[in-house]
Amino acid sequence: MRTPVIITGRNTKGMAVLIILMLMSGLVFSVLWQGSTAVVSHMNIRHIIVIDAGHGGYDPGAITSQGLYEKEINLQMAKRVGELLKPSGIEVILTRDEDIDYVPDGTRGRQTKKQADLNYRISLAKQANADAFVSLHLNATVGGLNSGAETFYHNQSAEGKRLAEIIQEELVKVPGMNRRIAKPGDFYIIKNTPMPAVIVELGYISNSKERAKLQQAWYQDQLAHSVAKGIARYFEMP
Ligand SMILES: [Zn+2]
Repeated sequence: MRTPVIITGRNTKGMAVLIILMLMSGLVFSVLWQGSTAVVSHMNIRHIIVIDAGHGGYDPGAITSQGLYEKEINLQMAKRVGELLKPSGIEVILTRDEDIDYVPDGTRGRQTKKQADLNYRISLAKQANADAFVSLHLNATVGGLNSGAETFYHNQSAEGKRLAEIIQEELVKVPGMNRRIAKPGDFYIIKNTPMPAVIVELGYISNSKERAKLQQAWYQDQLAHSVAKGIARYFEMP
């Protein structure tokens, strides 16, 4: 497996160094190997989570007069949550990791396009046999007074409700967050996803204070930690 090394007779010092290096790499290899088997034995049950960055491509989501697009922060947040979950052994699937949509060429009509895009994301989760689906969004209202994160589940899904409640419980621990509770919502994506599915509205970009925070790395990290912790808790992982 290692590439053969040709050692000339004269260079005995170099040879000694090479032998030491080879011994060390073998040691490192065996440590890694033991490490990975240890991890595998902890993960008898493999959990698969789909993290969906809401909107993308042709669909910007909410837009502010400052030129902020919801789809951009959703994507940054999905990547952050995914990165945080990976070491836990939970398998993370992002519905998108760039600014794209899933509307087939030639699709006409606002509603038809939106539904085609969402259907594709749902089919990704089905194909992956995902255990849960978390769609990340930002809220916006006229007036800009509302603030805070809120999580929605479909009222036909008891497990969706449990997932939403746990994530919301973690989100309200973010310093300065108001104390909303998880709510039922009749949204297409959580209604049509066969596995437990929630929509997390991470905050209001219509609120100037929250908008400023939502664009900052330290605040995105706090939110991402909460969502990741909620997902890990849902799967009953430490
Ligand atoms: Zn949205």
